[in-house]
Amino acid sequence: MVPPASSDSKSAATPVLELTTPVQFLKGVGPKRAPLFERLGISTLADLIRHIPHRYEHEREETAIAELPFDQVVSARGEIAATRVAGRGRSARFEATLDDESGRLHLTWFNGAYLKRRIHPGMLLRVQGKVKRYQNYRQMANPKWEALADETTEAREERYRPIYPATEDLSSEQIEKIAHGVLDEALELIDDHLDDDYRKSRELPSLRDAYRMAHRPEHEAEAIEGRRRLAFDEMLLLQLGVAMRRRQLRETARAPALTWNDAIEKHILERFPFELTESQRRVIEEIRTDLQREAPMNRLLQGDVGAGKTVVALYGMLMAAASRRQSALLAPTEILAEQHYSSITSMLEGSNLRIELLTGTLSAADRESIERGVDSGEVDIVIGTHALLSERLRFDKLALIIIDEQHRFGVEQRATLRRRAMETGEIPHTLIMTATPIPRTLSLTLFGDLDVSTIHGLPPGRQPVVTRVVGPDQTEVVYDYIAGRLREGEQAYIVLPAIDETEATDLKAVRSHLEWLESGPFEGLRCAAVHGRLKRPTRETIMYRFRKGKIDAIVATTVIEVGVDVPNASIMVVEHAERFGLSQLHQLRGRVGRGSRKSLCVFIGDPSTDDAKARLDAIGSTSDGFEIAEKDFEIRGMGEIFGARQSGLPPFRVARLPDDLALLQLARRDAAVLIDNDPDLSAAPHRLLRQRLMKTYGEGLGIGDVG
Ligand code: ADP
Ligand code: MG
Repeated sequence: MVPPASSDSKSAATPVLELTTPVQFLKGVGPKRAPLFERLGISTLADLIRHIPHRYEHEREETAIAELPFDQVVSARGEIAATRVAGRGRSARFEATLDDESGRLHLTWFNGAYLKRRIHPGMLLRVQGKVKRYQNYRQMANPKWEALADETTEAREERYRPIYPATEDLSSEQIEKIAHGVLDEALELIDDHLDDDYRKSRELPSLRDAYRMAHRPEHEAEAIEGRRRLAFDEMLLLQLGVAMRRRQLRETARAPALTWNDAIEKHILERFPFELTESQRRVIEEIRTDLQREAPMNRLLQGDVGAGKTVVALYGMLMAAASRRQSALLAPTEILAEQHYSSITSMLEGSNLRIELLTGTLSAADRESIERGVDSGEVDIVIGTHALLSERLRFDKLALIIIDEQHRFGVEQRATLRRRAMETGEIPHTLIMTATPIPRTLSLTLFGDLDVSTIHGLPPGRQPVVTRVVGPDQTEVVYDYIAGRLREGEQAYIVLPAIDETEATDLKAVRSHLEWLESGPFEGLRCAAVHGRLKRPTRETIMYRFRKGKIDAIVATTVIEVGVDVPNASIMVVEHAERFGLSQLHQLRGRVGRGSRKSLCVFIGDPSTDDAKARLDAIGSTSDGFEIAEKDFEIRGMGEIFGARQSGLPPFRVARLPDDLALLQLARRDAAVLIDNDPDLSAAPHRLLRQRLMKTYGEGLGIGDVG
């Protein structure tokens, strides 16, 4: 038993605890167990206190033996009728029978020979464990047990017990014992960073109470109350960080204000081969207004797959060029970068702008030549993959960064590019484009500092894509039908999850599927494979020939997933559709339906999990990207969409979205008010709050260096 903490426990023999005390020195831990705690990310007392239960269980009340249900944790009491040791040596098991008025329970402890000296016939015992039917009787293996003084010992009150995140080697019970042993003493050491009046106005318990209630709740309501405070704290800190950064950027950062007038507008629009839609015009106006300001634009442009975001980006880049400034377009895949490069160079044909494509597969000489051009300012527009993030690339006068398909990038890359550009003393404007609309809940947390523009609808003349979700048994029917359409002059993408088949996965793959198609349903049609292992010139040639109608079907991996734009392609088939994420399926479908032809998208899938079924149902029932994003969020949860690694920020431990949305909104409002009144939280009452904020988000949000 661990003695309750009290002032006299801090005698000379017991070292005084501090929140920074290594776990090793906590009662019951020691050098052998400390590494087990480390594996859970617990190195100090503070970490242990922060390691709160992830759920709670009602400890069962006792049940009469004859009524004990099978296969769940239950408790019973009775008298030991007989005991015996079966087998030999240390691995011998100890068996006992436990009787009450209603019946008999067989107890077995494996490796339990030592119990022979502790459990004897006639003793009253309470046991807890799972009951299994064994031959004709009820058996409980390795029960927890406790000797009772006499029959009048009260049945233990039903307890609400914490279940901690644990490992194989360190159980929830062990963590509970150690955490509860130091809890009271540790709580004394915790200061609250929220003042009493504020807390009360928000009906939040003090930090001490919150931790006590989370670790050792008297009942369910307490566990909820404690958790609410801790979740609120996490969200408040993040919102404070975001608000602080936003303010600092607004106050200190200067971006190049770009020129705009009617002549520039006319020049730009002349380059576009079509009339802008109403929605595109409105979005361009928002961006144009931002770009004319000295405050750096930080804007998210969302629009469904095929909505026409590229020209909006190009508008911005041409505005930069008109002010003799540079712009950079960052794409998530080489194919997409290449495509942007070719469509932008063709739209700008005959202009005196220098446009370059910078990807990871350039020769060293080519890359250096482009880098020199960017550095000297001769290059006006540079388009590329993550190669643009290279340390070596220096800009002369970068005014605008465009990040295409943000869902493939993290906040980190955005920050890297900006930091790099800041070396010149100016912050460039940033436009982030995405077809995976960030669910509102999420954008509030992670992108609280972004303005949002939305392109609604699709350009005119589009025909809706007919979607079919079918099982693998329909494969031949599907390809025979498609072959007929290809012979009439349509073009198709066939997507598979891998390049080659492997024995381990049993999945169809690009190369073998291509062979099968060419010697079967697609005989006589012109097919080609596209995947990440092709050399760039080969891939470019294939894409070029496809665009020109000289190839009927491309059999590809998901390298063609985002952005690829070949309006004449009107058929998409996705094999093993159950393997793909919902947003990914939507992106893939977005490759067709770009021209005036009636397009078809067939998902061939064999879902074996509920999630996979849900994804295929969703993709078959809606083609609205916004609805899909929300569904994806529901199926996958927030953690996976923007994992901590991707966002570069510490993950929430307690808060859960979308469940805690209301709390998040409260935190967001309060953070805004706090930062308005005390922009860098330097006022005395905010000292502790500021300290905790900097510790958690100072680095990740780049706000640590101020004040
Ligand atoms: P996304 O938003 O998915 O990036 P794109 O910018 O690739 O979409 O545009 C999809 C297709 O629509 C392209 O072929 C593009 O040329 C065409 N497009 C864009 N805007 C218009 C418009 N206003 N009128 C007609 N076609 C357009
Ligand atoms: Mg695009």
